[in-house]
Amino acid sequence: MMRTAMRFDLITIFPGFFAGFLDHGILRRAQADGLIEIATHDLRNFTHDRHRTVDDRPFGGGEGMVLKPEPLARALDSLGIPPNPARGGKSSSGACSLFPDPCTILTSPQGRPFTQSIARELSHLNRIVLICGRYEGIDERINQLYCDMELSIGDYVLSGGELAAAVILDATMRLIPGVLGNEASSEFESFGAPDDSITTEQEGVPRSQHGSGGLLDYPHYTRPAEFAGLRAPDVLLNGDHLQIRRWRREQQLRKTLANRPDLLDSAILNDEDRRILDKLRSNPGS
Ligand code: SAH
Repeated sequence: MMRTAMRFDLITIFPGFFAGFLDHGILRRAQADGLIEIATHDLRNFTHDRHRTVDDRPFGGGEGMVLKPEPLARALDSLGIPPNPARGGKSSSGACSLFPDPCTILTSPQGRPFTQSIARELSHLNRIVLICGRYEGIDERINQLYCDMELSIGDYVLSGGELAAAVILDATMRLIPGVLGNEASSEFESFGAPDDSITTEQEGVPRSQHGSGGLLDYPHYTRPAEFAGLRAPDVLLNGDHLQIRRWRREQQLRKTLANRPDLLDSAILNDEDRRILDKLRSNPGS
C-alpha cells in the first residue's frame, strides 16, 4: 500500500532560506514523486502590529533578543497543533510516546543530540513540525506548551534554527521507503542499523551483503584506477567479493577506531571484527 506523503512544516522568520535547499537532488525528486510535502511558514505573518514584530528583550536582562511567544503560538495553532501543558517526551509524566505523530520539534543547542536512529524513528511519522529559533532562542513557554522534543544537531551554536531544521528534514526524508533509488542502501552507510545476520562471509555483491552495524562507512573509489599518482586499492579491482567485503569491513573498523571510538561500544561486532580491532589497537600504524 502506498503511504501518504510525509508532511514537514517549517516555522521560520526566513522562509526564503529554504528555497535552494528544497529544489535539488533527492529532496526535489521526493516532493515531485509525492513522497514528501514541505510547507514553510513565515512567522511574521502571525504578527498583528505594524512592524510585524517577532522578538522582544529578555526578562531579567542580558544580551540579545528572544522570539516572542504569541506569533509562534498563532503559527502552531494555524497548523492544528494545540497547546498542551503535559506535552513531550521531555515531560516526566511518561504518558506520551517519545515520537508522537504529529511531532513538534524545537531546534536548539540544548536539545538531545540528533542521530541517525532518531532520523529513523521520525521517518515513520506522517507529520513533523520544525520550529527554527533565532537570536537567543524562543520564549520557553512555547517549548513547554507545544514542543514534543528539542533536537540539537551538534555541540556548537548556529545563528538560527534553519540549518538545523534542514539537516533534520534531509536526514529523515531520505529514510522514507521509496525516496532513495535503492531502498536498502541507507542500511549500509555510516551508522547503518545493526544487523547481526550480515557477515563478511556471505555470498553476493559486497555492498548489499555488508551492513555497517553502527560503524562508519568504508572509503569509496571510482575510475580512473590511478589518479595523481595514487592507485585505487588493488583488492577492489580484482572482483573477489569475499576479499572486498573483508577489506571494507577492516576499513570501517579502522576509520571508526580512529575517528569515533565511542561508536564501537554499541556496534555489532563478531569475533573476526574483534580480532581486527585488537590488531589495530596494538599496531596503530599498520
Ligand atoms: N542562546 C542559545 C543559542 C541560540 S542560537 C543557547 O546558548 O543555547 C539561535 C537559534 O539557532 C536557536 O534557537 C536554535 O533554533 C538554533 N540553533 C543554534 N545552534 C543549534 C544547534 N546546535 N542545533 C539545533 N539548533 C541550533
